[in-house]
Amino acid sequence: MNGDNIAGLVRGQREFFSGGGTRGLEARTEALDKLQRLLREGEAELLAALKADLGKPETEAYLSEIAFVEGEIALARKKLKSWSRPRRVRTGWLTFPASGRIYPSPYGTALIIGPWNYPLQLLLAPLVGALAAGNTAVLKPSELAPATSRTLVRLIAEKFDPGLLAAVEGGAETARQLLGEKFDYIFYTGSSRVGRLVMAAAAENLTPVTLELGGKNPCLLDRGFDLKTAARRIAWGKFFNAGQTCVAPDYLLLPRELESRFLEELEAAIGSFYGDDPRSSPDYGRIINEKHLNRLAGLIEGAEIAFGGEIDRGQKYLAPTAVRKVPDGHSLLEEEVFGPILPVRPYDTLDEALEFINRLPCPLALYFFSTDRKKRKKVIAESISGGVAVNDTISQILPPSLPFGGVGESGMGSYHGRASFETFSRHRSVLTRSPRFELPFRYPPYRTPLKTLKNIINLIK
Ligand code: NAD
Repeated sequence: MNGDNIAGLVRGQREFFSGGGTRGLEARTEALDKLQRLLREGEAELLAALKADLGKPETEAYLSEIAFVEGEIALARKKLKSWSRPRRVRTGWLTFPASGRIYPSPYGTALIIGPWNYPLQLLLAPLVGALAAGNTAVLKPSELAPATSRTLVRLIAEKFDPGLLAAVEGGAETARQLLGEKFDYIFYTGSSRVGRLVMAAAAENLTPVTLELGGKNPCLLDRGFDLKTAARRIAWGKFFNAGQTCVAPDYLLLPRELESRFLEELEAAIGSFYGDDPRSSPDYGRIINEKHLNRLAGLIEGAEIAFGGEIDRGQKYLAPTAVRKVPDGHSLLEEEVFGPILPVRPYDTLDEALEFINRLPCPLALYFFSTDRKKRKKVIAESISGGVAVNDTISQILPPSLPFGGVGESGMGSYHGRASFETFSRHRSVLTRSPRFELPFRYPPYRTPLKTLKNIINLIK
């Protein structure tokens, strides 16, 4: 799509919005139903596209990309009426007698830009919030997942009025053209580097943004936690989607004396998930492209590999890998890994582990495996992250009741469940006064002595 077409598309959406196309709850419900139908009818094609782009195992793709969004749609459908209801609030004596209401109001036309690792979920989950809240939306899928992008763009064009919802294929240049238009809300998921560019472009139009970015998610194992359970839960979160998950545990800090035993358990967990040769397992994904595979290969070059490390370039395969004895300052401990490599680092005291965690920019997620309540409180209190899972990985993003988002370098704003609806809604305050009663001292000339005024205020407040 060229610049003129993009400008026309955005203009069309603005007209659709100002013409009231999204105003009533019926229109929003219909849009959500359409999205649900798109997923149901397009499921087989979408799963095939995800397989082509990322070698996504069908179960992983279904659960994380389709069922997840369907859950968000079902919840929004059920709760739309109550979420949209204006909320009554007290207004106090200064405006007496009056009523106050807060109306959740749509922003207008939203732009949602997504990354390649969950190319459906990360566009459609925010979209549920945008549509439920009564916005129109333009989606920009990632060019690095071309099959999914192409399929989604076509399915949306077949089902939706482009005034309400459209998806535009393309890469950075297309994203830049879109960002050159005035949107009323921008929701971006991707790298922190591009997040900065998106925010700068949004500033030109004073457009509010949500930024869902990346980072290094620490995983901290305490003494006394069952190693087998920890190993299975860490392996699942780390190697799901071949480690290309923004909330995957990025590195593991573990008590020094447990390192070898834990690595044995981790290898056993991987064996039980994917067999002796994960390359031939239908349940293990692939790296998105050669460039990322080379980047990951570079990260483990010369490192002390505890297990894994095998690469098959033809298949874009990198085995589930653990690396030990990583020297301080190594990229594995400084940059987001975003692949199936787990650097492990021993610690002696919890304070030392926390110090290591807090040295790095704020992560999106933090994981702590511990049965000790006091230590759990301490770790939560003495660290910063977008979210936390205690005794598990990734599952903090599953309940729609828990808003999901980052902080600092890992982003700003949050979504999922009601939080998505709130993200795409403005809080519009409406005060309605009675035409009858007046507070006499409000208008000039101010004749009531200040002392009397203070006494009155103290009396009625
Ligand atoms: P990316 O930033 O390279 O690309 C994301 C999107 O931005 C794509 O649609 C791309 O076309 C667009 N883009 C690229 N260059 C642009 C530019 N100059 N101007 C405007 N738009 C541009 O990110 P990616 O590689 O697709 O995704 C990986 C990153 O995303 C990782 O850092 C990961 O942690 C993060 N991520 C975060 C979340 C989250 O929910 N917080 C989820 C998934 C991925």
